Amino acid sequence: MLLTCDPTNNEAGMKLLEYLTTDVKQIQEQVLDEILTQNANTDYLRGFLDCKTEKELFKKGVPVVNYEDIKPYIERIANGEPSEIISAQPITELLTSSGTSGGQPKMMPSTAEELERKTFFYNILVPVMNKYVDGLEQGKAMYLLFIKPETSTPAGLKARPVLTSYYKSSNFRNRPFNPFNVYTSPDESILCSDNKQSMYCQLLCGLVQRDEVLRVGAVFASAFLRAIKFMEDHWRELCCNIRSGHVSDWITDTSCRNAVSLILGKPNSYLADLIEVQCTSGNSWEGIIKKLWPKTKYIEVIVTGSMAQYIPTLEFYSGGLPLVSTMYGSSECYLGINLKPMSNPCDVSYTLLPNMAYFEFLPLEENHDTLLLNPQVQRNGVSGPDTIKMDNQSEAVSLVDVKLGHYYELVVTTFTGLYRYRVGDILMVTGFYNNAPQFRFVQRQNVVLSIDTDKTSEEDLLKAVAQAKLIIEPRGFLLTEYTSYADTSSVPGHYVLFWELKTRGRRSDEALEIDPSIMGQCCSTVEESLDSVYRRCRKKDNSIGPLEIRVVNHGTFDALMDYCVSKGSSVNQYKTPRCIKSEEALQVLDSRVLGRYFSTRVPFWEPFCLQTK
Ligand code: AMP
Repeated sequence: MLLTCDPTNNEAGMKLLEYLTTDVKQIQEQVLDEILTQNANTDYLRGFLDCKTEKELFKKGVPVVNYEDIKPYIERIANGEPSEIISAQPITELLTSSGTSGGQPKMMPSTAEELERKTFFYNILVPVMNKYVDGLEQGKAMYLLFIKPETSTPAGLKARPVLTSYYKSSNFRNRPFNPFNVYTSPDESILCSDNKQSMYCQLLCGLVQRDEVLRVGAVFASAFLRAIKFMEDHWRELCCNIRSGHVSDWITDTSCRNAVSLILGKPNSYLADLIEVQCTSGNSWEGIIKKLWPKTKYIEVIVTGSMAQYIPTLEFYSGGLPLVSTMYGSSECYLGINLKPMSNPCDVSYTLLPNMAYFEFLPLEENHDTLLLNPQVQRNGVSGPDTIKMDNQSEAVSLVDVKLGHYYELVVTTFTGLYRYRVGDILMVTGFYNNAPQFRFVQRQNVVLSIDTDKTSEEDLLKAVAQAKLIIEPRGFLLTEYTSYADTSSVPGHYVLFWELKTRGRRSDEALEIDPSIMGQCCSTVEESLDSVYRRCRKKDNSIGPLEIRVVNHGTFDALMDYCVSKGSSVNQYKTPRCIKSEEALQVLDSRVLGRYFSTRVPFWEPFCLQTK
């Protein structure tokens, strides 16, 4: 089921959406039928279905799996075995997810056909946006898009993040011109592998064409804020380039430099002065986006899930522009679109497109106790791990059988060789458009900390803290309690750990004698022990700042418990939350800080490399 959509034909696009959201049941059945017929002879499915393709057998015979279950198959393909062990269609590359397994990115299979499905997905977003915002074809989009490093598997398959794969594809590079897809960034600047040069050049092009810009954005809110911070640090130099008509000498990527020089054109001191005035007027950069790009109608960035933490900062810079989250996707497959893109970020729901994959849902029970402490959970925010529990009694239900107000974990069967695969996302049904359920993204299962694309679980944190404890324990310190917090008050954000320490053999209320250099080492050790996506964000992307440990005074965690109990937690069941989301709980901790220590080393990272077995 491979559909096409002409992004320039709004009427046809909206008709297609009506069809996709009305005939959901039939389309999902067709999708499953196709996947099973095509792949019945793969080693994987044969093992469960014995070459049968009846849909009824699928749910009975094929197990719901997670990455550890399919990892051996993926590794075999990476090491050169034929794609047919899981997919009848050739696997053309592996997409490295921000989810990790054993500290390394999970790898999702992809095919040439899947690229067409992604193109369809991007195209169908266009009529939806046009329905709500007029005149987008009369200007340009300043979308700040970046690629990340890629690597090859021992068998020579490319392994890279899904967006890098898309931007490098001919579907993106040779996209047919259409007035809704005109970007200020030349492709050469998006495809520049040096992220700093890429950022500089894309901002320069965006500033030069500021009068034509009707929308700005990046994929995730964190990347857009990083661009604003970058501009705060570089606006003088950017203005200087505009004034002189000369791109800074440190832009050495030749194709990027040439493309940007063409856009920069002749010296333009009038424009440089204008930009300078906007950057220097007022006491702060409040509303800077609207000032620098006065015709912009909205900011397109994903602000749901863990990105919700950036909404206040974005609002500060935006000057009242709507924040628009258009899509929900993953390395496994693209999933859903926001049919009401101009809605308030906390009301965003995604409609899963039934032609993208076969969707199933594991019912979950919500834990009201934790919801009380994490009000964001109900409103597109991240939450603690205990919030929602698996309902062990129930089986996975189909897309058309989900119920309003219920929570589910998403399971996908893709055209690329994933069968009944748990994506790890928790969604809540908020309503229906025609027959298509709409979902609020609730949280990523087990993720407690996230600044950019990193996803740190309670277990990852525990392991990393255990490594740091090895430094303090021989020195007579005991870590009696800890929790964490994603501090996004500055850009880039950083992880903060709150530690309550005690000196062995001394009374708890005696003053601690803390050696700052030892604490700095603890911070670095925690960072070294976190997974490769965290370390890439920290070292290569500079999207996460140095980790901080705040040592708190004796009794702080008792005060935290008192606070949680006062908010409705049961004393008997109380467990220290391993991540703090509530402002008030944070104040309980912050008001008792004895010392703040930062990581002094950038952790080791290199693109992962698969070992040949
Ligand atoms: P990756 O596997 O690195 O491509 O990351 C995909 C994951 O990012 C999804 O499974 C979600 O957890 C998260 N994600 C993607 N799009 C959204 C969105 N619109 N809102 C919230 N989370 C999202």
